[in-house]
Amino acid sequence: MVIRSVLGVGGAFVNAVTISKATSRGCTDAVVPLERGQREVFCGLTGIIWLHRKIQDAFFLVVGSRTCAHLIQSAAGVMIFAEPRFATAIIDERDLAGMADCNDELDRLVARLLERRPEIKLLFLVGSCPSEVIKLDLSRAAQRLSRTFMPDVRVLNYSGSGIETTFTQGEDACLASLVPILPSATATEPSLLVVGALAEVVEDQMRRLFAAMGVGPVAFLPPRSALMLPAVGPNTRYLMAQPFLADTARALEERGARRLAAPFPLGVEGTELWLRAAAEAWNIPAPRFDDSIALPRARALRALSRHRELLAGLRVFFFPDSQMEIPLARFLSRELGMRLVEVGTPYLHRQHMAAELELLPEDTALVEGQDVERQLDRCREMAPDLVVCGLGLANPLEAEGITTKWSIELLFSPTQGFDQAADLAELFARPLARRLRLRV
Ligand code: SF4
Repeated sequence: MVIRSVLGVGGAFVNAVTISKATSRGCTDAVVPLERGQREVFCGLTGIIWLHRKIQDAFFLVVGSRTCAHLIQSAAGVMIFAEPRFATAIIDERDLAGMADCNDELDRLVARLLERRPEIKLLFLVGSCPSEVIKLDLSRAAQRLSRTFMPDVRVLNYSGSGIETTFTQGEDACLASLVPILPSATATEPSLLVVGALAEVVEDQMRRLFAAMGVGPVAFLPPRSALMLPAVGPNTRYLMAQPFLADTARALEERGARRLAAPFPLGVEGTELWLRAAAEAWNIPAPRFDDSIALPRARALRALSRHRELLAGLRVFFFPDSQMEIPLARFLSRELGMRLVEVGTPYLHRQHMAAELELLPEDTALVEGQDVERQLDRCREMAPDLVVCGLGLANPLEAEGITTKWSIELLFSPTQGFDQAADLAELFARPLARRLRLRV
């Protein structure tokens, strides 16, 4: 049965819960059970699909097996590229048997690639399970190749291996590998660094909002070009645009940067509080901040209301997959009136999630880690209206009649910021609307 919300339209719902924040600590002090068991996750190579679109003169060379090549091709879907910016150097039987020198072969391959593609300015050697099993030292390979091809091309490495990771850790590892090569900031004035890959349209919107507020200078990591690496230093204040960047954050802090604590910019409320954190750090007067965001905020609240009609009162269950589960649960619960049955997260970073936990309903069933069979049992028993999970679980659950949302899609689509709040809601509304149509 569909339970519909009795809450008002427009901004009424968000305003009501924002006021309640003052008296509730949400899930701040929640004891979160830790599950250890079989996990259903994609590996970090997946991140290449959105990262290659973002850094437009970078190339991602996976050093892996045919399985790795197939994974990337499936994640890339039906896209056809004349000049792709990612590829797999396949480790074959001769390499695995130690009959060929992988380093020599890698050097030859990279030289051929860079000769054919002079537009490449940054080459990532991406490690995989097979490269780690044969202990191929890609960090030494990257240093050696950098010496050969600098200053035209810089070569870095990171691991996308999937043995014990989630698919969003690929982006974290990639950005963390960039931090040591960022130039040192010399300015004595503070600067803002937005950390996490954002679609260009979102980045442009954020730039406009920061400019209107009077916050700046602003830079983004990753940048659109390897030639535009942002400077970092003790006067850098950074805002995380994605919740899964623990290693990148640590590396930035080692360079002196300081994090501005905020929820993540998902939904109207998350975006407003995220922007407000920067405004407060820059001592922007409240009326100027309110004026800067008034129009896009009002537009976003209007656009959200049509999705709330369908989603309010429905029950959602999150399997741990993308590390975006907590901010998404906060958005679905507070802005769309959905009821949270269980919110699984692969890892719980208490510090980075503090502002999010504070906003979650107090009785939210949070779970860290995964024991997939037990979680499937709970999910079936609770019969939620919508399950957010990875592809490995989505198809079998659909076959059981449970409506699912494939979590990776949340990374492939522009979802942050005011203008994307309704699109984000639509990603959850679409499978439910389809199910309703099928039932009619
Ligand atoms: S899990 Fe390992 S072997 Fe499989 S695609 Fe990912 S890196 Fe390659």
